[in-house]
Amino acid sequence: MTARILDGNALAQTLRADFKKRAEALATRGNRPGLAVILVGEDAASQVYVRNKVNACVQAGFHSEKLTYAPDVEARVVLAKIAELNADPRIHGILVQLPLPKHFDVDAVLKAISPEKDVDGFHAENVGALMQGHPRFIPCTPYGIMQFLADAGIDLKGKEAVVLGRSNIVGKPMAMLLMQASATVTVCHSQTRDLAFHTRRADVLVAALGKARFVTADMVKPGAVVIDVGINRLPDGKLCGDVDFGPVSAIASAITPVPGGVGPMTITMLLANTLEAAEREAR
Ligand code: NDP
Repeated sequence: MTARILDGNALAQTLRADFKKRAEALATRGNRPGLAVILVGEDAASQVYVRNKVNACVQAGFHSEKLTYAPDVEARVVLAKIAELNADPRIHGILVQLPLPKHFDVDAVLKAISPEKDVDGFHAENVGALMQGHPRFIPCTPYGIMQFLADAGIDLKGKEAVVLGRSNIVGKPMAMLLMQASATVTVCHSQTRDLAFHTRRADVLVAALGKARFVTADMVKPGAVVIDVGINRLPDGKLCGDVDFGPVSAIASAITPVPGGVGPMTITMLLANTLEAAEREAR
């Protein structure tokens, strides 16, 4: 079997074209969706992520604001800006790019964002709402993966789903969404004994570890759907995922590539969350 490649760029393009129309419809009623992105420090990867997010907003016809601060900025300055943005009617989504410098209390910063504008879905209130099955904002990466699975017509009901990784950003919300879609979910992490025992049972395998080419073909059930979240830089500078793409794509039924898979969908779902917030407000 050769796996169907789930093309994140193509799906992202289709969704963004729809978002652009919806943003214009809102703009004509004076409610153009608006996203504020806060970047503290000079981390090179964070700068690229923020630039991509702002560009995606502009291309979709959203209002966007980028607020940058020196690495030694006092936390109270950033918290004051968040309070200002919480009250700004042009802004429907606020995102603080992580990681923050060490002198920041990350939980306090995430808590300061109004839950109604928390488009990353990291505020405890939104995490709780997701857990209870009536999410306000779904964290962008797992939200994008659910879109992928729906678009590919993959029915999750009764399927064995295995998630590698238990982070708040990817693994935990991913597991919750798969469970809510009636899959039987196993979450693995660095303390899991005999990881391959679990992965070989997976009809749907989501790899979010941050370990280059960790998932090899012998760990994958033939015909499985494999979602690769990992972004790893190889010594030659190239990007690769957590899955050994070539050999795994020879036995899987569907697979996401890296780059061009989950990555473009993550930014797309940030737009989706911002748009949904603006539409909710305009109702
Ligand atoms: P974290 O580092 O927060 O979490 C990694 C998880 O993997 C942890 O739960 C850890 O277990 C687990 N893990 C690490 N090593 C092993 C191992 N050998 N065996 C089993 N489990 C292991 O990462 P994130 O969740 O934030 O991100 C994961 C990857 O996804 C990264 O490569 C990141 O760059 C990428 N990413 C990509 C996005 C995209 O848009 N494509 C978006 C977000 C992330 P434990 O909890 O026990 O430590």
